[in-house]
Amino acid sequence: MISVPTTNDEHITCLLSQISSIEEPCYVICEPIQDVPINECFPLVEEKIKTDGGRRILGWQIWKGKLLIEAEFHAVWESPDGKYIDITPKALAFSKILFVPDPTAIYEGKQVNNIRINITGNSLVDEFISIHDATFRIENKGDRALQYELCLKGKEAQAHTILTNAKPIIEMMALENLTKNSPCPCGSNKKYKICHGKIFMKVAKNF
Ligand SMILES: [Zn+2]
Repeated sequence: MISVPTTNDEHITCLLSQISSIEEPCYVICEPIQDVPINECFPLVEEKIKTDGGRRILGWQIWKGKLLIEAEFHAVWESPDGKYIDITPKALAFSKILFVPDPTAIYEGKQVNNIRINITGNSLVDEFISIHDATFRIENKGDRALQYELCLKGKEAQAHTILTNAKPIIEMMALENLTKNSPCPCGSNKKYKICHGKIFMKVAKNF
């Protein structure tokens, strides 16, 4: 379950150092527009400006889960009277988000990877992050970054499937405080790190 962290969250400093924006995190009220696709902040803010004026503010929305704190590239709308509003509907409804405006950020029509920080001290979560990063690299390689539908073939399709399936397995293990030295959940009686963990990391490093 993800939540909106507080501005004084103990892990926020580390995340902010990775974002390197001169701006401070602030809360932005959510007033999602109805009957539009979720998470499509960039085209939605563009449309809003055409009808109601104001301007686009690029930055990062910050989420916290049990394993990670992460920053997701995001656009909010600044109304003509200078108020920041998050107009983009999300899978889960929040009354506000924690947002770091980033005046140096540029949106090129491409997906931007989340910045993820392991907050557990369990190195299994570092592997979880590597798998997210590898999946992102496959999904956004070359022209794919500009395409909406994902179309993969051969080795890349195979790797993508392995990594996508690995994510909930590793997440579940970490949430149960298991480590890379725990028995592999496949039931082989081998340690995870020399069984499926080894396979997952080999695939992740290849892409
Ligand atoms: Zn296994």
